[in-house]
Amino acid sequence: MTTTEPILQLDQVSRVHGQGAAEVHALRAVDLTVHAGEFVAVMGPSGSGKSTLLTLAGGLDRPTGGRVLVQGSSLGELSRKRLAQVRRRAVGYVFQDYNLIPALTAAENIMLPRELDGVPARTARREALAALAEIGIEELADRFPDDMSGGQQQRVAIARALIGGRNLVLADEPTGALDSGTGEAVLAVLRARCDAGAGAVMVTHEARHAAWADRVVFLRDGRLVDETGRLSADELLVAATGNAQGGEE
Ligand code: ADP
Ligand code: MG
Repeated sequence: MTTTEPILQLDQVSRVHGQGAAEVHALRAVDLTVHAGEFVAVMGPSGSGKSTLLTLAGGLDRPTGGRVLVQGSSLGELSRKRLAQVRRRAVGYVFQDYNLIPALTAAENIMLPRELDGVPARTARREALAALAEIGIEELADRFPDDMSGGQQQRVAIARALIGGRNLVLADEPTGALDSGTGEAVLAVLRARCDAGAGAVMVTHEARHAAWADRVVFLRDGRLVDETGRLSADELLVAATGNAQGGEE
Protein backbone atom coordinates (compact mmCIF):
# COMPACT_ATOMS: atom_id res chain seq x y z
CA MET A 1 0.00 0.00 0.00
CA THR A 2 1.25 3.44 -0.84
CA THR A 3 -1.15 5.39 1.36
CA THR A 4 -2.18 4.82 4.93
CA GLU A 5 -5.53 5.75 6.39
CA PRO A 6 -5.11 8.66 8.76
CA ILE A 7 -5.24 7.74 12.43
CA LEU A 8 -7.03 10.98 13.23
CA GLN A 9 -8.95 13.39 11.05
CA LEU A 10 -10.67 16.56 12.16
CA ASP A 11 -12.87 17.81 9.37
CA GLN A 12 -14.11 21.41 9.87
CA VAL A 13 -14.53 20.77 13.57
CA SER A 14 -16.20 23.46 15.67
CA ARG A 15 -17.28 23.54 19.30
CA VAL A 16 -19.55 26.25 20.64
CA HIS A 17 -20.36 26.41 24.34
CA GLY A 18 -23.39 28.27 25.67
CA GLN A 19 -25.90 30.34 23.74
CA GLY A 20 -26.64 33.91 22.72
CA ALA A 21 -24.55 36.51 24.49
CA ALA A 22 -22.80 33.77 26.49
CA GLU A 23 -21.71 31.90 23.36
CA VAL A 24 -18.06 30.82 23.38
CA HIS A 25 -16.47 29.54 20.19
CA ALA A 26 -13.90 27.20 21.68
CA LEU A 27 -12.94 25.79 18.26
CA ARG A 28 -13.71 27.15 14.81
CA ALA A 29 -13.71 24.97 11.67
CA VAL A 30 -10.45 23.18 12.45
CA ASP A 31 -8.99 20.74 9.92
CA LEU A 32 -6.24 18.45 11.13
CA THR A 33 -5.00 15.09 9.87
CA VAL A 34 -2.58 12.87 11.76
CA HIS A 35 -1.09 9.83 10.04
CA ALA A 36 0.55 6.76 11.51
CA GLY A 37 4.02 7.63 12.71
CA GLU A 38 3.26 11.31 13.15
CA PHE A 39 3.84 13.30 16.32
CA VAL A 40 1.98 16.60 16.26
CA ALA A 41 2.42 19.33 18.87
CA VAL A 42 -0.31 21.89 19.54
CA MET A 43 0.65 25.28 20.89
CA GLY A 44 -1.33 28.42 21.57
CA PRO A 45 -2.26 30.89 24.30
CA SER A 46 -4.42 29.92 27.26
CA GLY A 47 -8.07 29.65 26.18
CA SER A 48 -7.22 29.18 22.49
CA GLY A 49 -8.94 25.78 22.33
CA LYS A 50 -6.09 23.31 22.81
CA SER A 51 -7.81 21.12 25.41
CA THR A 52 -11.07 21.33 23.47
CA LEU A 53 -9.31 20.01 20.38
CA LEU A 54 -7.97 17.04 22.34
CA THR A 55 -11.25 16.15 24.06
CA LEU A 56 -13.03 16.18 20.69
CA ALA A 57 -10.26 14.11 19.08
CA GLY A 58 -10.59 11.54 21.86
CA GLY A 59 -14.38 11.35 21.69
CA LEU A 60 -14.76 12.75 25.21
CA ASP A 61 -16.87 15.60 23.86
CA ARG A 62 -18.85 16.05 20.65
CA PRO A 63 -18.30 18.83 18.15
CA THR A 64 -21.15 21.24 17.39
CA GLY A 65 -19.98 21.24 13.77
CA GLY A 66 -17.83 19.03 11.57
CA ARG A 67 -16.63 15.47 12.00
CA VAL A 68 -13.95 13.62 13.96
CA LEU A 69 -12.66 10.35 12.50
CA VAL A 70 -10.44 7.93 14.40
CA GLN A 71 -8.94 5.25 12.15
CA GLY A 72 -11.60 6.05 9.60
CA SER A 73 -14.60 5.77 11.99
CA SER A 74 -16.66 8.91 12.34
CA LEU A 75 -17.11 9.18 16.11
CA GLY A 76 -20.46 10.97 15.83
CA GLU A 77 -21.95 7.99 14.00
CA LEU A 78 -20.87 5.33 16.51
CA SER A 79 -23.18 3.85 19.12
CA ARG A 80 -22.25 4.66 22.73
CA LYS A 81 -20.88 1.17 23.11
CA ARG A 82 -18.68 1.36 20.01
CA LEU A 83 -17.48 4.83 20.97
CA ALA A 84 -16.50 3.54 24.41
CA GLN A 85 -14.61 0.69 22.71
CA VAL A 86 -12.72 3.04 20.41
CA ARG A 87 -11.82 5.20 23.39
CA ARG A 88 -10.50 2.21 25.34
CA ARG A 89 -8.74 0.38 22.52
CA ALA A 90 -7.50 2.96 20.08
CA VAL A 91 -7.06 6.12 22.09
CA GLY A 92 -4.69 6.74 24.98
CA TYR A 93 -5.53 9.99 26.73
CA VAL A 94 -3.28 11.86 29.16
CA PHE A 95 -5.35 14.40 31.06
CA GLN A 96 -3.89 17.67 32.24
CA ASP A 97 -4.86 16.75 35.82
CA TYR A 98 -3.97 13.01 35.43
CA ASN A 99 -7.41 11.61 36.44
CA LEU A 100 -6.01 8.63 38.32
CA ILE A 101 -8.44 6.68 40.48
CA PRO A 102 -7.34 7.23 44.13
CA ALA A 103 -8.54 3.82 45.34
CA LEU A 104 -6.39 1.94 42.81
CA THR A 105 -2.62 1.46 42.76
CA ALA A 106 -0.55 2.68 39.82
CA ALA A 107 -0.57 -0.77 38.19
CA GLU A 108 -4.33 -1.15 38.77
CA ASN A 109 -5.03 2.26 37.27
CA ILE A 110 -3.04 1.31 34.19
CA MET A 111 -4.65 -2.15 33.90
CA LEU A 112 -8.20 -0.85 34.18
CA PRO A 113 -8.92 -0.06 30.52
CA ARG A 114 -7.54 -3.46 29.50
CA GLU A 115 -9.59 -5.33 32.09
CA LEU A 116 -12.71 -3.45 30.98
CA ASP A 117 -11.91 -4.84 27.55
CA GLY A 118 -11.87 -8.41 28.85
CA VAL A 119 -8.11 -8.92 29.02
CA PRO A 120 -7.33 -11.37 31.88
CA ALA A 121 -5.97 -9.65 35.00
CA ARG A 122 -2.60 -11.43 34.84
CA THR A 123 -2.03 -10.36 31.25
CA ALA A 124 -3.21 -6.83 32.00
CA ARG A 125 -0.85 -6.61 34.97
CA ARG A 126 2.07 -7.82 32.86
CA GLU A 127 1.24 -5.13 30.29
CA ALA A 128 0.93 -2.51 33.04
CA LEU A 129 4.36 -3.38 34.43
CA ALA A 130 5.82 -3.15 30.93
CA ALA A 131 4.25 0.29 30.45
CA LEU A 132 5.62 1.42 33.83
CA ALA A 133 9.05 0.14 32.81
CA GLU A 134 8.87 2.00 29.50
CA ILE A 135 8.34 5.23 31.45
CA GLY A 136 10.99 4.24 33.98
CA ILE A 137 8.80 3.97 37.10
CA GLU A 138 8.39 0.23 37.74
CA GLU A 139 8.96 0.84 41.44
CA LEU A 140 5.66 2.75 41.67
CA ALA A 141 3.52 -0.23 40.58
CA ASP A 142 1.89 -0.88 43.95
CA ARG A 143 1.73 2.69 45.16
CA PHE A 144 -1.50 4.69 45.44
CA PRO A 145 -1.84 8.09 43.74
CA ASP A 146 -2.03 9.97 47.05
CA ASP A 147 1.41 8.60 47.96
CA MET A 148 3.01 9.89 44.77
CA SER A 149 4.35 13.28 43.73
CA GLY A 150 2.63 15.18 40.93
CA GLY A 151 5.38 14.18 38.54
CA GLN A 152 5.02 10.51 39.47
CA GLN A 153 1.24 10.65 38.97
CA GLN A 154 1.78 12.28 35.63
CA ARG A 155 4.06 9.47 34.51
CA VAL A 156 1.54 6.85 35.66
CA ALA A 157 -1.12 8.66 33.62
CA ILE A 158 1.19 8.49 30.60
CA ALA A 159 1.82 4.78 31.12
CA ARG A 160 -1.96 4.26 31.23
CA ALA A 161 -2.27 5.98 27.85
CA LEU A 162 0.32 3.69 26.29
CA ILE A 163 -0.92 0.29 27.48
CA GLY A 164 -2.36 -2.10 24.93
CA GLY A 165 -0.67 -0.61 21.90
CA ARG A 166 -3.01 2.36 21.42
CA ASN A 167 -2.69 3.81 17.96
CA LEU A 168 -3.56 7.34 18.97
CA VAL A 169 -2.05 9.05 21.99
CA LEU A 170 -3.55 12.40 23.02
CA ALA A 171 -1.67 14.24 25.73
CA ASP A 172 -2.61 17.54 27.35
CA GLU A 173 0.60 19.14 28.65
CA PRO A 174 1.99 15.74 29.68
CA THR A 175 5.23 17.23 30.94
CA GLY A 176 3.76 20.04 33.03
CA ALA A 177 4.67 18.54 36.41
CA LEU A 178 7.98 16.99 35.34
CA ASP A 179 11.49 18.32 35.80
CA SER A 180 13.29 18.88 32.52
CA GLY A 181 15.22 15.59 32.50
CA THR A 182 12.11 13.51 33.22
CA GLY A 183 10.13 15.56 30.72
CA GLU A 184 12.62 14.81 27.97
CA ALA A 185 12.54 11.10 28.87
CA VAL A 186 8.74 11.04 28.54
CA LEU A 187 8.95 12.84 25.21
CA ALA A 188 11.45 10.28 24.00
CA VAL A 189 8.91 7.55 24.86
CA LEU A 190 6.16 9.34 22.91
CA ARG A 191 8.55 9.87 20.02
CA ALA A 192 9.45 6.16 20.02
CA ARG A 193 5.76 5.21 20.02
CA CYS A 194 5.22 7.34 16.94
CA ASP A 195 8.31 5.95 15.25
CA ALA A 196 6.76 2.52 15.88
CA GLY A 197 3.58 3.56 14.05
CA ALA A 198 1.29 5.35 16.51
CA GLY A 199 0.01 8.87 15.99
CA ALA A 200 0.23 11.42 18.79
CA VAL A 201 -1.11 14.88 19.48
CA MET A 202 0.45 16.72 22.39
CA VAL A 203 -0.48 20.09 23.81
CA THR A 204 2.53 21.92 25.14
CA HIS A 205 3.57 25.48 25.86
CA GLU A 206 7.26 24.65 25.77
CA ALA A 207 8.98 25.18 22.43
CA ARG A 208 11.74 22.83 23.55
CA HIS A 209 9.18 20.03 23.91
CA ALA A 210 7.39 20.84 20.67
CA ALA A 211 10.74 20.35 18.96
CA TRP A 212 10.27 16.58 19.47
CA ALA A 213 7.25 16.67 17.16
CA ASP A 214 7.18 16.28 13.39
CA ARG A 215 4.81 19.18 13.09
CA VAL A 216 3.57 22.00 15.26
CA VAL A 217 0.14 23.53 14.85
CA PHE A 218 -0.79 26.82 16.47
CA LEU A 219 -4.23 27.64 17.77
CA ARG A 220 -5.44 31.12 18.39
CA ASP A 221 -8.98 32.02 19.42
CA GLY A 222 -10.20 28.57 18.35
CA ARG A 223 -8.62 28.74 14.89
CA LEU A 224 -5.73 26.80 13.53
CA VAL A 225 -3.55 29.66 12.42
CA ASP A 226 -0.29 28.19 11.31
CA GLU A 227 1.58 25.01 10.80
CA THR A 228 5.27 24.39 10.73
CA GLY A 229 7.44 21.50 9.74
CA ARG A 230 10.02 20.27 12.18
CA LEU A 231 11.83 23.27 13.59
CA SER A 232 14.55 23.85 16.12
CA ALA A 233 13.49 24.98 19.59
CA ASP A 234 14.81 28.47 18.81
CA GLU A 235 12.84 28.74 15.59
CA LEU A 236 9.74 27.51 17.39
CA LEU A 237 10.16 30.08 20.10
CA VAL A 238 10.24 32.81 17.48
CA ALA A 239 7.21 31.33 15.73
CA ALA A 240 5.25 30.98 18.97
CA THR A 241 6.10 34.47 20.13
CA GLY A 242 5.23 35.92 16.74
CA ASN A 243 1.82 34.31 16.95
CA ALA A 244 1.30 35.46 20.50
CA GLN A 245 1.78 39.05 19.34
CA GLY A 246 -0.62 38.70 16.42
CA GLY A 247 -3.00 41.59 17.22
CA GLU A 248 -6.76 41.31 18.04
CA GLU A 249 -8.37 41.89 21.50
P1 ADP B 1 -6.88 25.92 26.25
O1 ADP B 1 -6.76 24.47 26.55
O2 ADP B 1 -6.17 26.34 24.99
O3 ADP B 1 -6.49 26.79 27.40
P2 ADP B 1 -9.74 25.38 26.21
O4 ADP B 1 -9.92 24.43 25.09
O5 ADP B 1 -9.75 24.81 27.57
O6 ADP B 1 -8.43 26.25 25.95
O7 ADP B 1 -10.88 26.46 26.13
C1 ADP B 1 -11.17 27.20 24.94
C2 ADP B 1 -12.29 28.20 25.23
O8 ADP B 1 -13.49 27.51 25.46
C3 ADP B 1 -12.02 29.07 26.44
O9 ADP B 1 -12.54 30.35 26.18
C4 ADP B 1 -12.80 28.38 27.52
O10 ADP B 1 -13.18 29.28 28.51
C5 ADP B 1 -13.99 27.85 26.74
N1 ADP B 1 -14.56 26.63 27.32
C6 ADP B 1 -13.95 25.42 27.44
N2 ADP B 1 -14.77 24.52 28.01
C7 ADP B 1 -15.95 25.18 28.27
C8 ADP B 1 -17.21 24.80 28.84
N3 ADP B 1 -17.44 23.56 29.26
N4 ADP B 1 -18.16 25.75 28.92
C9 ADP B 1 -17.96 27.01 28.48
N5 ADP B 1 -16.80 27.42 27.93
C10 ADP B 1 -15.81 26.53 27.82
MG1 MG C 1 -5.96 23.48 28.23
